[in-house]
Amino acid sequence: MATWLRSHPRTSYALVVAPSRGHHGHVAGDVQFEGRPDGTVVGKDRSSVMMFFALTNCPDEVLRLDLGGGVQQITGTASHHVLSSSVLDGWSGFLLTGDVLYPGRLCIQDMAAFACSLDRILGLVASGRVRHVMDAHIEMSRTARWDYPPGATCQHDEPSLQMSIEQLRGLGDGAVSIANCPGAHVLDEFAMFHGPCRPAIAHQRARDLWGSLCRS
Ligand SMILES: [Zn+2]
Repeated sequence: MATWLRSHPRTSYALVVAPSRGHHGHVAGDVQFEGRPDGTVVGKDRSSVMMFFALTNCPDEVLRLDLGGGVQQITGTASHHVLSSSVLDGWSGFLLTGDVLYPGRLCIQDMAAFACSLDRILGLVASGRVRHVMDAHIEMSRTARWDYPPGATCQHDEPSLQMSIEQLRGLGDGAVSIANCPGAHVLDEFAMFHGPCRPAIAHQRARDLWGSLCRS
């Protein structure tokens, strides 16, 4: 940022910190921006996000937000939470997928809303404006069909957070292929839990507990 300010001299710049989802994994760092001059930290609850962006039809609408150097397209995306969001930066072509689609454990409670979210994400990709893709979590290892234990604090040989556009399309195609089949599905690059999936979720919780015990 110091380099950018040297080439774009100004006394300050506005900063908006908005959560892609209210879970602590997405907002734990927000506190460092609180109290910053000319800055806004949007609350993590649904009503705060909707009020700040003047959303009226979330998650279905695509909000266009002009920051002065390029239009951001922000859309609600439903995955394991009804309100997460994805952002496409119009200047850089950088797509932040949030929690809707990434190489990890996708817990889908509302398949219809998830399918609509996939359509919007893949529609952005099809528009040709996406040049880079960044997801929110690293949960799958480089070994096909093997995810790191929940809560792991050390993940050997993990893949990068960045995805290729082809990888994102592949994930989307995989998700579409099993969208009508409730249950737990483990594919090479992600796992989808469609519906309650109690045995599979219990297994993940047991892995989490075992990891906690091993770390204590
Ligand atoms: Zn997340």
